[in-house]
Amino acid sequence: MSQFGRALRERQPDPAGRRWLFVPYDQLSGEIGPLSREDPQNIGIVLVETLWKSARRPYHKQKLALVLANLRHFALEQAARGMAIRYVAASGPYRAALEPLIAALGPLRVMEPAERELRADLAPLVASGGLLVIPHEGWLTTAEDFRTSQRSGPPWRMDAFYRHVRRRTGLLMRQGKPVGGKFSFDPDNRLPWRGDPPAPRPPRFRPDAITEEVGDLVDNLFARHPGRLDLAALPATRQDAKALWTWASRECLPVFGPYEDAMSSRSSGLFHTRISALLNLHRLLPSRVVADVEGMTLPLASQEGFIRQILGWREFVRHVHLATDGFRSLPGSAPPIAEHPGDGGATPSVLGASEPLPPVFWGTPSGLACLDRVVADVWAEGYSHHITRLMVLANLATLLDVSPRELTDWFWVAYTDAYDWVVEPNVLGMGTYAVGDLMTTKPYVSGAAYLARMSDYCAICAFHPKTTCPITSLYWAFLARHEVRLRDNPRLRLPLQALRKRPTARREEDARTFQHGRAALAAGRTLSVKGADQARPRKDRHGTD
Ligand SMILES: Cc1cc2nc3c(=O)[nH]c(=O)nc-3n(C[C@H](O)[C@H](O)[C@H](O)COP(=O)(O)OP(=O)(O)OC[C@H]3O[C@@H](n4cnc5c(N)ncnc54)[C@H](O)[C@@H]3O)c2cc1C
Repeated sequence: MSQFGRALRERQPDPAGRRWLFVPYDQLSGEIGPLSREDPQNIGIVLVETLWKSARRPYHKQKLALVLANLRHFALEQAARGMAIRYVAASGPYRAALEPLIAALGPLRVMEPAERELRADLAPLVASGGLLVIPHEGWLTTAEDFRTSQRSGPPWRMDAFYRHVRRRTGLLMRQGKPVGGKFSFDPDNRLPWRGDPPAPRPPRFRPDAITEEVGDLVDNLFARHPGRLDLAALPATRQDAKALWTWASRECLPVFGPYEDAMSSRSSGLFHTRISALLNLHRLLPSRVVADVEGMTLPLASQEGFIRQILGWREFVRHVHLATDGFRSLPGSAPPIAEHPGDGGATPSVLGASEPLPPVFWGTPSGLACLDRVVADVWAEGYSHHITRLMVLANLATLLDVSPRELTDWFWVAYTDAYDWVVEPNVLGMGTYAVGDLMTTKPYVSGAAYLARMSDYCAICAFHPKTTCPITSLYWAFLARHEVRLRDNPRLRLPLQALRKRPTARREEDARTFQHGRAALAAGRTLSVKGADQARPRKDRHGTD
């Protein structure tokens, strides 16, 4: 018997006479729902660990270990509180694992799953009355908040939603007015980081026998999955979650705001808190985190900036996902569904981008230091912070016309915090403009100047941001290719005016840089300044052409 099996048996109380609840893998909190208020002696919890889920996509090893280690520790923690636990090891869908239990124990309650994929799996059990769905108490806002805030949408806007929920909840409000006189201090939060203050080192944890066992399982069963397994970087217990939050509160939050948009080759997270994976599993509760931050003495730009991420963006993207049924149902269209056993997700692409994801995303060097550095961080940690996701990974993929669905699936497997409700809106909606202006006002694309200003990647790159970096040409080529589609966008008026003034020869060069850069990266070749990559028919100043 496994260490975990033994430990659970030792703690297991008498399961007789209990009312049973199914707790999905991402609802691992005893502080919400029935677990927070009913007598532990009366409750039984069903937990399911299934190879079917783990093998459904080539998830990063660290992600598999994070979910399994937290699921197992949660089982032990709740058993220690007196809850009876039925821990099911399965190899098929959740539905198949639950059916016999429902037959034996009677109907199970479940808080509404966050993931659409899990809701779809469980739908027949809900329809037959075997599963009784109750509200998910982990969210801070309701569908009504979303509807009320977006009177005329779609398109939907996060800032209107955020202002509405600030008013409704009274968070960072004094006498009906936002603290500091404005709802957002975003414009104050755009400093590059030059090394001072030093970036905090992410906390390390001491893996116990349960976590070690999960590590062995992942190494054995999922050896072919990508990514580095680093158990000491993995918060697995309730105490670890608290320790991570204490670290984030002390080391990150005081300077969270000013450096929020900065990027560095010396730190994958800078002053970002790294709590998303635990928030999404509910090992840390959004309500607790937001309340803590409201109560802290912090510079307002950091305090408000952080609260906006959780109360605003995190909740908003979830509502967009719900309102569009995972982007299957968009205003005036219903994008095709990708092929995958079961359902491969919606494939919107208003710009018509459909190129395969280039091998650089799986670790083949591209020669672009920004892209190579962030990809390396992701495979080492299953994490990178928001701006690297948006302005390096999604930016480059968008400039190369990569299929938004392929990019989404990559993010889904590569990041430890990715679940459909959050990764799809962030990649399809925000990162790639695949659904147009449905939830953002413009495509988030940039040339090398932005990257040079906000990061130190260019200092370790063979290309020069002002002369040889191909990203600038890729940016102009993107605007030129999609000019007709984008020309009515007021936020792109200035760049499109600049494009029209760009000399024809430069525009032709941009187009060639795009053609040859895309071909080289698709073939897994490294771009170089001197023209060594085979995709380049001649040497020129943009390096990929
Ligand atoms: C292309 C792309 C893909 C993304 N994929 C995911 C994903 O799969 N899972 C995920 O949780 N976040 C995703 N995000 C949002 C954001 O990048 C991460 O939540 C954040 O980087 C997590 O790191 P952190 O905890 O250090 O965040 P911090 O910067 O410390 O922010 C605090 C918290 O705010 C929340 N948050 C901030 N922005 C967002 C957002 N846009 N959407 C949802 N929550 C947000 C997160 O819970 C985060 O933990 C994505 C963003 C982009 C641009």
